[in-house]
Amino acid sequence: MSKVRTRFAPSPTGRMHVGNLRSALYEFLIAKHEGGDFMLRIEDTDQERFVEGAVDIIYRTLAETGLVHDEGPDKDGGYGPYVQSERMKTGIYMKYAKELVEKGEAYYCFCDKERLSTLKTEVVEGKEIMIYDKHCLSLTKEEVEANLAAGKPFVIRQNIPNEGTTTFHDELYGDITVENAELDDMILIKSDGYPTYNFANVVDDHTMNITHVVRGNEYLSSSPKYQRLYDAFGWKSPVYIHLPLITDENHKKLSKRSGHSSFEDLIEQGFLTEAVVNYIALLGWSPEDNREIFTLDELIKEFDYHRISKSPAVFDYTKLKWMNGEY
Ligand code: GLU
Ligand code: ZN
Repeated sequence: MSKVRTRFAPSPTGRMHVGNLRSALYEFLIAKHEGGDFMLRIEDTDQERFVEGAVDIIYRTLAETGLVHDEGPDKDGGYGPYVQSERMKTGIYMKYAKELVEKGEAYYCFCDKERLSTLKTEVVEGKEIMIYDKHCLSLTKEEVEANLAAGKPFVIRQNIPNEGTTTFHDELYGDITVENAELDDMILIKSDGYPTYNFANVVDDHTMNITHVVRGNEYLSSSPKYQRLYDAFGWKSPVYIHLPLITDENHKKLSKRSGHSSFEDLIEQGFLTEAVVNYIALLGWSPEDNREIFTLDELIKEFDYHRISKSPAVFDYTKLKWMNGEY
């Protein structure tokens, strides 16, 4: 087997949510358990969601918790993380998007706001999503070229046929198959030239030789679209591990309102970093015996990702206090 390579790929959108820290920790542990490499990649191509100072929070949190990344893109002695807005300047995402266009797996879309506003929408997970009607898929090559030459603004969309199904595999959930008709022709390159998070994520996981991807299960619904991208390129997809939701004591998604949803909240409340890391490790994973107290080194030794659970993890504040030595 090739060397295990994992990555933590946060979007700099604010404080470090406990769920994000758990993904980072598991990615780190999977790599270190196997003597592999753990990478950090800042996913900052979504200019609208970018929050000033959030990148520093990421660096600080990883440094404090001991989740040190192994590799950076700078071959000249620098040891920085991979940063998508920097990678973009090399033209990497556009290059791969054009490759998909050549293959018929993506297409240029010149629809303006006005036209898009007339299209059907659907509510998915509480959000209103526009269903693109493939209007621009029927443009001829000459029409596309004429539009490009005229400097018309465009996006590049993934071309997903309405027929057939797509299957991908997750370590916890097994094979998941969806009808292609349920998948939208998502945007890969935006009109500002930036790749979407969805596209950059796939290109980077492949080009960085990532072997295992750990993330929250809110990404399960996008994974078929990612799988189609891997298949279109002829790339092997990484091992996917989608982690269960973390809930509060009332079994509601752990949110800001709980007052302890981020690493910084917990530190401000006086918890020790070691206790927080120890506690978070057990939010969805358990060792073979009933041990509960671990240092980071002990976690590295014990962490077998096959023991990650699929059931929701309840954030038990009382237990964290106990781990913190408060009883
Ligand atoms: N940038 C995504 C996030 O922060 C990463 C998801 C992933 O790990 O692929 O949620
Ligand atoms: Zn269009």
